[in-house]
Amino acid sequence: MVRTDVVVIGAGQAGLAAAYGLRRAGLEPGAGFVVLDGEDGPGGAWRHRWPTLRVDTTHRINDLPGLPFAPTDPSRPAAEVVPAYFDEYERTFDLQVHRPVRVTAVRDAAPDLLVETGSGTWTTRALINATGTWTHPFRPRYPGQERFLGRQLHPAEYRGPAEFAGLRVVVVGGGTSAVQLLMEIAGVAAATTWVTRRPPHFHEGPFDEDAGRAAVARVEERVRAGLPPQSVVGVTGLMLTPQVRAAQESGVLHRLPMFERITPDGVAWADGSTVAADVILWATGWRAALGHLTPLRLRGPGGGIAVDGTRVRADPRIHLVGYGPSASTIGANRAGRAAAREVVALLREPLSA
Ligand code: FAD
Repeated sequence: MVRTDVVVIGAGQAGLAAAYGLRRAGLEPGAGFVVLDGEDGPGGAWRHRWPTLRVDTTHRINDLPGLPFAPTDPSRPAAEVVPAYFDEYERTFDLQVHRPVRVTAVRDAAPDLLVETGSGTWTTRALINATGTWTHPFRPRYPGQERFLGRQLHPAEYRGPAEFAGLRVVVVGGGTSAVQLLMEIAGVAAATTWVTRRPPHFHEGPFDEDAGRAAVARVEERVRAGLPPQSVVGVTGLMLTPQVRAAQESGVLHRLPMFERITPDGVAWADGSTVAADVILWATGWRAALGHLTPLRLRGPGGGIAVDGTRVRADPRIHLVGYGPSASTIGANRAGRAAAREVVALLREPLSA
């Protein structure tokens, strides 16, 4: 059993920003804080983004605190460029990330917390959880799904449009991933069909800082109330870029309501209409990867974990960063900084248990 003051779980944008804040506050890697990450190398979820997601086609990747993100070639895949930047970041600030170390459970051993992993157990006074969503893709269940003869996949498994050449593809989901992948696949597929539960909302005009703040505030309200977080795009709507407009005009973004069931060779609606499909792409999002926190029973009746800022209301030793309103590169930076500050203040308090 290894003792430390703070364990940070996850070394994506949120975990690295938190580790930087701890380091700046004077904590040393080892006795002061430890970063545990389940990946084989730096980059967090960016290691796994599909190859066609380039730095210049992402929403925007914000700098981590203290080291500008200055890619020499933004047309390179984000899955290559961002891990290289994170690698440099970890080395520059000597964050000493332990990997691959996957946390299996966190347990209460008041006044401490026990962090269990496949590579041993850490005892800590405080925990900053920064485990993102990538490892927890969400796929809804629909009747007939198991009898579908084609391929079903989630964007987490998507490796580019080439494998859909000549196929009939149904894309399910109303978020950014659904729209981006639909536009890519439509270029090579025999046919594409887009279905969403609710009519998509496209955001007209520039998306300024005020609109961003208002959207984040709405997600913040949900997590403060203990509801499961909604994605920020779910609140803001989809950006109407020139490519999106072109796809609307060409009919690629013609949306159908959600089907009722899946047949062996396609999908079917309640009115009897059907669409034949070789592939169903479930672009239905991700959920916060928090399974390892289950023993702490932090979820409330609303189904989410109630937080004030980043601090878990039921247990002030624990902070969630990159969660809900901070699930973006800029939000993760702010959350990491805030969590580090509060955790350092907590460490200065006398132990009460
Ligand atoms: P992650 O980068 O997912 O890092 C979490 C880390 O925790 C991973 O290394 C993971 O392996 C590790 N981990 C998870 N569980 C465990 C465990 N039990 N034990 C140990 N380690 C664990 N945001 C933007 O601001 N701009 C964009 O352009 C943008 N594009 C996006 C594109 C896609 C396709 C998606 C899905 C999201 C995008 N986002 C974007 C949102 C994005 O997820 C966040 O911005 C940010 O990368 C999340 O950082 P994070 O640190 O919270 O999580």
